Amino acid sequence: MLKSNLIANVIIDKAREIYGDDFIPLHRPVFNGTEKKYLNDCIDSNFVSSVGENVQNFENQIQEFTGSKYAIATVNGTAALHIALKLSGVENDSEVITQSLTFIATCNAIAYCNATPVFIDVDKETLGMSPERLEHFLKKNTIRKNNKLINKITKKRISACLPMHTFGNPCRIDDLKKICRQWGIPLVEDAAESLGSFFKDRHTGTFGQFGTFSFNGNKIITTGGGGMIVTNNKLLAQKAKHITTTSKKPHEYEFFHDEIGYNYRLPNLNATLGCSQMEQLPEFLKIKRKLFSFWKEALEDADASFFIPTKESESNYWLNAIICSSKKERNQILKITNQNGVMTRPIWKLMSSLPMFSKCQNDGLDNSLWLEQRVVNIPSSVYYKP
Ligand SMILES: *Cc1c(COP(=O)(O)O)cnc(C)c1O
Repeated sequence: MLKSNLIANVIIDKAREIYGDDFIPLHRPVFNGTEKKYLNDCIDSNFVSSVGENVQNFENQIQEFTGSKYAIATVNGTAALHIALKLSGVENDSEVITQSLTFIATCNAIAYCNATPVFIDVDKETLGMSPERLEHFLKKNTIRKNNKLINKITKKRISACLPMHTFGNPCRIDDLKKICRQWGIPLVEDAAESLGSFFKDRHTGTFGQFGTFSFNGNKIITTGGGGMIVTNNKLLAQKAKHITTTSKKPHEYEFFHDEIGYNYRLPNLNATLGCSQMEQLPEFLKIKRKLFSFWKEALEDADASFFIPTKESESNYWLNAIICSSKKERNQILKITNQNGVMTRPIWKLMSSLPMFSKCQNDGLDNSLWLEQRVVNIPSSVYYKP
């Protein structure tokens, strides 16, 4: 049998073994805890929208879990990124260094600031931004002028660096942080996929000036839709809370807004779901770890290349992935598994290949291009306990 058919069959058989006979999604949410009780209480209270205590409760839970000083809930992860970039000083016509290998939200948030992404390659070992490539780019392409870091080629100011922790696997964030500090660029982490992931015992999203999370339906915990900004800077936290809640000055009854704000507040109803999901996060993480071991064993037996996070990181194992030996093999595996009701997906098309971002500067993106053709995600829900 062809190797691709063999791998596809192992994925199908093993997925059926743990998830049963029905259609198997890539990642399905699990509501086995207090969700319905909390949601009923929330509805009975009438506070389902912009007022209610669970927004604060949910923020406290994230703050405590991640070890960050402040947490600000938002309506989704993209909104969290938008505000984090804006408050980092990403202004009109500037540039943000990021990965081409990421989900569209990363680049959309940059575009919402009227800034342009610059694409740096990733490491094959982490799927996240390569510190060596970043440093190489900065040395080759930038100069400092009037205390600003200027891209020599585009003449634009580089206003932030935005790496992403792909599938929950921490990138080499301490090295990236060192480089950003040395070059004077604010670091923002897109930690949308990495709640529960640590790098050298520190939670992802807490290395940069800001980190952001997403609680979309496919993430490790969900609020239906939702996001969070974390930071250790009190002033920035206050600003983030202010402009995500229409910049309204607190007053008994007057409506006074002191700058352009955003209606990016997370509704209390969604925060309520988040409070319940956070109670279950430690259990979800345990199951994810077991699931990772289960897939690792099964796929190594099939001689498939299974993605393994680096030793210095503790991944949340949000989405498991295999690295196919060719695009042809990848396509064959995607075709067979999906035709058999076991959902698998390729990694995103590179941002640099999309019409909106195709003219943005990049560093060659060798690894990103290589990975784009080969990575396949396999079912990773926690609804069955292997
Ligand atoms: C999910 C995700 C986001 C945020 O998505 P929302 O749907 O807006 O919550 C941002 N970046 C990455 C890499 C993501 O996977």
